[in-house]
Amino acid sequence: MALASALPNRPASHLFYQTRQRRPLVERAEGVWFWDSDGRRYLDGSSGAMVSNIGHSHPHVVEAMRRQIGKATFAYRLHFENEAAETLAAKLVGHLTGDLSRVFFVSGGSEAVESCLKLARQYAVATGQGSRYKVISRFPSYHGCTLGALAVTGYTALTAPFAPMMQEMPKIPAPTAYLDRDALTMEQRGLKYADLLEREILAQGPETVLAFIMEPVGGASTGALVAPDSYYGRVREICDRHGVLLIYDEVMSGAGRTGRFLGGDHWAARPDLVALSKGFAAGYSPLGAAVAPDRIVEPVLDAGGFLHGFTYAGNPLACAAGLAVLEVIENEGLVARAASRGDLLKSKLALLMERYPFIGDVRGKGLLLAFELVADRETMAPLEPSLNAHARLVERAFEQGLIVYSRRTRGGRAGDHILVCPPMVVSESEIDELMAMLTAALDAFAA
Ligand code: PMP
Repeated sequence: MALASALPNRPASHLFYQTRQRRPLVERAEGVWFWDSDGRRYLDGSSGAMVSNIGHSHPHVVEAMRRQIGKATFAYRLHFENEAAETLAAKLVGHLTGDLSRVFFVSGGSEAVESCLKLARQYAVATGQGSRYKVISRFPSYHGCTLGALAVTGYTALTAPFAPMMQEMPKIPAPTAYLDRDALTMEQRGLKYADLLEREILAQGPETVLAFIMEPVGGASTGALVAPDSYYGRVREICDRHGVLLIYDEVMSGAGRTGRFLGGDHWAARPDLVALSKGFAAGYSPLGAAVAPDRIVEPVLDAGGFLHGFTYAGNPLACAAGLAVLEVIENEGLVARAASRGDLLKSKLALLMERYPFIGDVRGKGLLLAFELVADRETMAPLEPSLNAHARLVERAFEQGLIVYSRRTRGGRAGDHILVCPPMVVSESEIDELMAMLTAALDAFAA
């Protein structure tokens, strides 16, 4: 069925988002499936925007939220503590390695990143390092839409209009080693990309550099980019050498999606601060968290307190949802499931390369997977100079009833990516259905 005929002829709306484009009206969702108001069924092959990690309408979470609604939906954190927030913080810390032990709850990913940046800055001020304020990030990258998070976002089309309103922050290239055609091994390339960080710190003046922020497993902006293994340890070493805090943005890669609780857990290097959201409450409630060790939080509290806060921070309903989501992740072994189902899905995606010469790379970890559309596997040039191929493929998939996520990253050397990231509860037969729909979409796209 063509998409146009799937869109009900609805009246003009008072709502507005990024464009005037209308979408079908969602009726209900369960597991990996959506139904629209015309009864059409869609497989959620992207978990929304990598949010619905445990699938839709999970009865355990619905029941936990119902119970919390019956008790108290909101209690302002400066008036009351609440058990849901306390229990969730403790449970979350139980999943974290290293010294990450303090949790500041927020309502989303941008807020989580902002909170990490502001905590890092206040830590520097509190410890006599007030000259440090620059946060180095990578290009391309996406860290959120608020002005602070945007300042560390490497995505010119999104940031340019706001440049006069933001403090310009330094960017280094993302480790797109898979595009390199030099004589180096992957490990050498990993070190080469990490060393760009040291060069930038030295160019900026180490005494001015506060932090380096990156996604350990890339999300939408890079299409599930994974650096060579050597990158992570070297980045940690460089940060330590220059007193720079390492912030992991795990908004997309966290909460089990990559087959480890944090995407960064695939490597030995440990971050100083972590931003979490999306799969953390898995779409049941707006929720995020900035996580830090005592050694960062205590000096800030000693110096007079953390100058930061959102009204909804740590509200009981969101925390009850997050707690129930973590219980589902534990009870159903979903982190291990993301690893095994991810391996299965990735091997099936890799087979597409035999059939479609325009698929140049399949990458990612666990169920954070992507493929890239290229004109030629040798040069890895984007399939279309306009970097618009991804949008057409997403529409062809939607016509098949398959939702996938894509991003055009203008600038850098990145191109058209399609992310394939179904909920961690996806079954093997649902992976087969996903692949059948995706193949039909690719055939229609290629025709
Ligand atoms: N960081 C990353 C890595 C993200 O993918 C996103 C959202 N796509 C954000 C931050 C911002 O999250 P939110 O949209 O919930 O504010």
